[in-house]
Amino acid sequence: MASQGLKLDKYSVGTGDRFAHQAKAQLQACAQALASGVEVVPVWNKSNREHSIIGSEPSAVREAADAAVKSLGWKLPYFCDADHITIETVSRFFASCDFYTIDVADFIGHAAAASEIDGFVKRHPELSGRVHLPGADQTFEITPDTLKQTAQKFLAAVKRAGEVYRKIENAKGAGNFIPEVSMDETDRAQSPVELLIILAAIADEGVPVQTIAPKFSGRFNKGVDYVGDVAQFEREMGLDVAAIAYAVQEYGLPGNLKLSVHSGSDKFSIYPAIHANLQKFDAGVHLKTAGTTWLEELIGLAEAGGDGLALAKEIYGEAFEHRDELCAPYATVINIDPARLPTPGEVRGWSSEQYTSALRHEREAAAYNSSLRQLLHVGFKVAAKMGRRYTDLLEANETVIAKNVTENLFDRHIAPVFLGRASGFQLESGL
Ligand SMILES: [Zn+2]
Repeated sequence: MASQGLKLDKYSVGTGDRFAHQAKAQLQACAQALASGVEVVPVWNKSNREHSIIGSEPSAVREAADAAVKSLGWKLPYFCDADHITIETVSRFFASCDFYTIDVADFIGHAAAASEIDGFVKRHPELSGRVHLPGADQTFEITPDTLKQTAQKFLAAVKRAGEVYRKIENAKGAGNFIPEVSMDETDRAQSPVELLIILAAIADEGVPVQTIAPKFSGRFNKGVDYVGDVAQFEREMGLDVAAIAYAVQEYGLPGNLKLSVHSGSDKFSIYPAIHANLQKFDAGVHLKTAGTTWLEELIGLAEAGGDGLALAKEIYGEAFEHRDELCAPYATVINIDPARLPTPGEVRGWSSEQYTSALRHEREAAAYNSSLRQLLHVGFKVAAKMGRRYTDLLEANETVIAKNVTENLFDRHIAPVFLGRASGFQLESGL
C-alpha cells in the first residue's frame, strides 16, 4: 500500500460541536489530558445530517477548530471529520475536512457479483481453516462456507468504500486525509472473524484505512449509557483488536490502524473495558462521541439563571411539543419513556439546580432523568431554529458553559478511557 502521509495518532477523541461555539472548551480537555501525560488528539466530527438540520457548512467546523488551536497554542495534530459521508454527500466536505468516515452500512447484505466472491475466496486461502490471532492467543475455525457467506454479506459494502475512497483521493490526493470505514449503523453486530474478513477485503480494495468502526454488540443509544453485557463487550473488543493486528501484519494495512468506537457518547460502563484493552494490547483507539456538548451548553445556560435558564426551559417546552417529529430520525438509537418526561409547565417552575440535575449525566444522582436527556439530545433543531437568539446567549454565558463542556469531555470521557481514571475524578486532587 502507498506511503501514508497524514497519520492519525494512537489516541484520539472525536467530538461534536453542533453550533460551532465550543471548540476551544473541547480542546481544553485535550490540553488537560496532555498535562496529565497522555496525548489525545482532537477530531471535530459533524455529519451531513447535522449540517442540514442546523443549516451550517463544513467550513464553519474548520474555522472553529483552527481558531481554538491558535488560541490555546495547541502543537499536536488535530482533524476535521466528514462524519458518516457517502458517495452522494462527500463533495461538500472536500475543502474543509482531512478525516473521512466512509459509511457503507447501507450496503451490507447487497449482492456482489459471484465472480468477485469466488475471486476473493481464492485469493485468501489463509482465511479458510484454522486462523490463529496471536495477540489474543485465540484460534478460530473458519469453514469455506463461512468465508463465502461473509464475503457475500460484506463485499459490496467494501467495494463501495473503495469507490468513495477513490473519489476523495481524486479530490484531495493520496495521503492528505485519514480514511475511516464505518459499518456501525446497522442492525446486527459484526463478529471479530467478520471484521478480519472485512479487513482483508478492504486491503484488496487498496483503501489505506486508519480506523474502522464495526458495530459492537449491545445498545449504543445516543447520549446515555451502554445497555448490554460489559464482559462480553470487553472480550469482543479484545478480539477485534487482535484481528486488526493480524490484518496489519498479513495484508499490509497501515500500522496505526485502530478501532473507532462510535459511542453515541456517555458509554460510561464500558469505558473501563476499553481502557483495559488499550493496556492489555498496547492498542490505540478513536473514541467518537456524539453531540452531547450541546447538552452542556443547555446545562451552562440553565446554571447561569436569568435569560439563560428561561431559554433552556423554552427549548425543553418546544422539544416536548415536537417530540414525535424530533425523535423519528433517531428511533433506533433512543429509548425514551414518555411517562418520565416532565410537562413544560412543570419545567417552567424549575430552579437552575433542578434543570441541571435532571439533565446532567450523573448516573447516581436521584434527579437524573435519562428520558429528558435523550429528548433534549435530539432536540437541537429547536435551538437551531432560534438562530442568533440562541448563539447570542451562548456568547454571553461563555465562561459557565465552557467550564461544563471541558469538565464533561475530560472527566467523563477522556480520563476513564485514556487515563484509566474513574469518571468524576478531579485533577485537582493531585494524584
Ligand atoms: Zn457512527
